[in-house]
Amino acid sequence: MTATVLDDRLRALRDAAREWGAEFRTAGAALDLDPDGVGAHLDLAGVRCLASMLIPAEYGGAGLRLGGHRFHGMTAIERVVVLEELARGDAGLMLASPGASMSGVLVDVLADREQKEWFYGRLLERPTWTFFALTEPGRGSDAAALETALSPAAEEVHRLDGRKKYVGNAARAALGVVFARTGPGPLGVTAVLVDTADPGYRAEPIETLGLRAARICEVTLDGVAVPAERVLGRDRSPARRGMWACVQTFNRLRPGVAAIAVGIAEAAHDAVLAGRLRLDRAERDRLEALAQRIASVRHLVHLSAIEVDADGSRGHLASAAKAEACRLAEEATLAACSFFGPRARWDHAVLDKLVRDARGVEFMEGAGNIQKLTLFQGLLAGKVGRGEPFPAHQAKTPTGGASCR
Ligand SMILES: Cc1cc2nc3c(=O)[nH]c(=O)nc-3n(C[C@H](O)[C@H](O)[C@H](O)COP(=O)(O)OP(=O)(O)OC[C@H]3O[C@@H](n4cnc5c(N)ncnc54)[C@H](O)[C@@H]3O)c2cc1C
Repeated sequence: MTATVLDDRLRALRDAAREWGAEFRTAGAALDLDPDGVGAHLDLAGVRCLASMLIPAEYGGAGLRLGGHRFHGMTAIERVVVLEELARGDAGLMLASPGASMSGVLVDVLADREQKEWFYGRLLERPTWTFFALTEPGRGSDAAALETALSPAAEEVHRLDGRKKYVGNAARAALGVVFARTGPGPLGVTAVLVDTADPGYRAEPIETLGLRAARICEVTLDGVAVPAERVLGRDRSPARRGMWACVQTFNRLRPGVAAIAVGIAEAAHDAVLAGRLRLDRAERDRLEALAQRIASVRHLVHLSAIEVDADGSRGHLASAAKAEACRLAEEATLAACSFFGPRARWDHAVLDKLVRDARGVEFMEGAGNIQKLTLFQGLLAGKVGRGEPFPAHQAKTPTGGASCR
């Protein structure tokens, strides 16, 4: 399939990101062995790009200038174009890079002007890692059951107590967001900005097999003081704060995670091309079929990004794209191994790493079953068209500069 939704501007971004991604391979392999060594790679163009993304111009973000175009990564379609190419180089380094990342999307959705000035101001000082703490031990998929508590303490200051798990970059971050409960039920969930230098914050990395560079952590919050001005959405009704913002944020983020999975699948395809110079006819056909499948899933990911850019509450296509792209990544990485015989993962460190990383992406921002549940609920509610390949308003052109053609 050759269909593309990318206009000239986005193609320029993709081409640049492809070059930066190629530089990620060596650095990513080194980080897999030493996940704490990310500081040595801050000068890579792709890392600098990620550090500049999601900081709007009106808050001082310089963005990225390419030819006559400027990019701030504020749209999902810009982010998927970059993330796919950088993950094709190395998904671990991509996730380990400094920048606003996941919390940047939440801040964009929920923060007021003063909070944005604080958050973006910190990021503009130097390369700064952020974290996004939602998952709790035993409460990953069922995020609404979270127990971390935000309780009133002294005047105008809250107290944050609880534990979070699998939080990316939490031990290297200077600031981030934490989801916590002020009362029962979904309306009792809220999100706050946290400075990791504050007493009571502790993050311990967890050893993982895949995406080791992301340094996912267990976070302990032991009476962290949170001033009232750091409570996100404080000026909004409870219905437009915690869980609402969480859903909006995940809708916008999921196309990006799907793009990372597509990048991993492409890296597996690249590894076969680079490592098997002579292929018989059946192998060539198999590889061609894989390339076509990658292209069609990429197309779905792009459409899902356009969908959430047009309306952040429409996340069903993003869920479909995330589930499908993760399935692709797992199958493509295993298929790539089959081109090298039974010792493939032992003999080719890159293949072994890709298989491990693909499994890690499956769990990010909701495992496949949860995406399928979301999609099914959308079908039941009539929000997803039966028999329609894509939603009716796919031809809308968001400000991100993409159009379906
Ligand atoms: C690399 C990586 C980075 C991450 N980064 C972050 C981060 O920065 N911040 C953060 O907060 N979290 C992060 N996470 C955590 C991630 O969001 C959780 O792993 C995810 O939500 C799944 O939760 P869990 O691991 O507790 O699995 P569980 O919820 O225990 O699920 C285990 C399995 O059961 C299935 N399952 C669960 N419920 C149902 C159901 N109702 N019906 C059918 N099947 C079901 C799931 O699909 C899954 O296959 C990260 C995870 C990884 C792997």
